[in-house]
Amino acid sequence: MKTVQRFYFDHNATTPVSPEVLETAVTCLGQVYGNASSIHHFGQAAKQRLETARRQIASLIGCQAREIVFVSGGTEADNLALFGTVRQAKRSGRHVITTAIEHPAVLNACAQLEREGVAVTYVPVGADGVVDPDDVRRALRADTVLVSVMHANNELGTVQPVPEIAAIAREAGVYLHVDGVQALGKIPVDVDALGADLYSMSGHKVYAPKGIGALYVRRGTRLGAILFGGHHERERRPGTENVPGAAAFGCAAELAGAHLETEVRRTGELRDRLEAAILERIPRTGVNGNRAARTPNTTNIYFDGLEGEALVIALDLRGFAVSSGAACSSGAVEPSHVLTAIGLKADRARASIRFSLGRGNTAEQVDALVEAVAAAVTHLRRLSPVMA
Ligand code: PLP
Repeated sequence: MKTVQRFYFDHNATTPVSPEVLETAVTCLGQVYGNASSIHHFGQAAKQRLETARRQIASLIGCQAREIVFVSGGTEADNLALFGTVRQAKRSGRHVITTAIEHPAVLNACAQLEREGVAVTYVPVGADGVVDPDDVRRALRADTVLVSVMHANNELGTVQPVPEIAAIAREAGVYLHVDGVQALGKIPVDVDALGADLYSMSGHKVYAPKGIGALYVRRGTRLGAILFGGHHERERRPGTENVPGAAAFGCAAELAGAHLETEVRRTGELRDRLEAAILERIPRTGVNGNRAARTPNTTNIYFDGLEGEALVIALDLRGFAVSSGAACSSGAVEPSHVLTAIGLKADRARASIRFSLGRGNTAEQVDALVEAVAAAVTHLRRLSPVMA
C-alpha cells in the first residue's frame, strides 16, 4: 500500500514540539528531578529552571517574571482568571462581561459562574468576527467585576480591539482578562500596551508540550486560588511544579520571540497564497470574518454545497490535516458557535473549514493542499447534488 505523505495545517488545534524544546524537556525530565520547593541542591536546581522559564515567558509578553503563574494549560488559565477574580470580589461584584465567540474554556466557566448566581453578559460580534468596544461599554453595570475577551479567535483568527476594551474597563474600575492562547507566538503581545490585568497562555499552541500553560496576573490584581494545597506559585496555584513542562514552555517562548517577525511575514504570505488560490479556483467559496484584523496564520473558508466534516475526512485521506470549526467541538452536530455568532446560516457554518499554518509549512505544501482541496470539493459536490 502506498504511504500517504502527511502535511499539517491545523496549528490552531495544537503544534508539534519543536526540536530545541524537546531537547530542553527531555534533559530536564532526566536530570532536573528535584522538587522546586526543596531547599537542597536538587530542589534548588529545579527552582532555577522554573525561574528561568518564568523570565523567558515574561520577556515574550513584556511583564515581570513574578507576574507569571504556571498552570496546566489554557483551560486552567482561563478558569483561574474567571473564578479567581469573581470569587474574590464576591461581595462587591456579581456581573461579568464576555463575548459570544470565546473558547469553551471561557464560555463554560461563565456558564458555571451563572449557576453560582453570577450574572454574565455575552457581547455579540458583527459579521467581521470583531467585538465592538461600545457594546462592552453598554454592557457595564455598577456591579461588574470582570471583562473577559479573547485576543485572537481560534476559529477565525480575528484579533479583538483589546486596548480599546481595556480603556473602558479601566475607566469603570473593572478587571480585564484576555484569553491570549491563540495570539501568543502569532502576533506581538505586550500586556501593558494591551492593558490586560490577566492574560492566558498555553504551551502546546507555541511548539511546547501539552499540559503546561501560564496566567499573567498584573501586580496588585486580587486573585484567589481555585485549587487548594501548598504554597506554590505565590499562593495562586498549589501543586508540585511541572518543571520540565515549564522549562519547555520557557524555551518555546524564547524561540517564539526570536522567530516572531519572520514567521508573521512568512505564514502571512503562505496563508494569503492559499486563500487566493482557493477563492480563485473553487466557485462558491468565501472567507469568514474580517480579513484585515487576523492572526497571519489563519483562514476560515466556506465551501457552499458540502459538509465541512466530509471535506476534513477527504483531505485527511489525501494527507492534509485541517479542521472544521474548533478542534474541541469536532464531532458535535451543532454548527460552530463562532460562525453562528458572525451570522452564518447553519448550512454555511457546517460547510466551513479552518486552515491554520505554522512553522513547518512551505509554499510547495500550500500548492499541493490547493490541488487536494479543489479535487475533494469537486468530488464531494458531485456526490451531494441536493445540497449543491
Ligand atoms: N482558549 C483558546 C482561545 C483556545 O484556542 C484554546 C485551545 O484550543 C484554549 C483556550 C484551551 O487551551 P488548552 O488546550 O491549553 O487547555
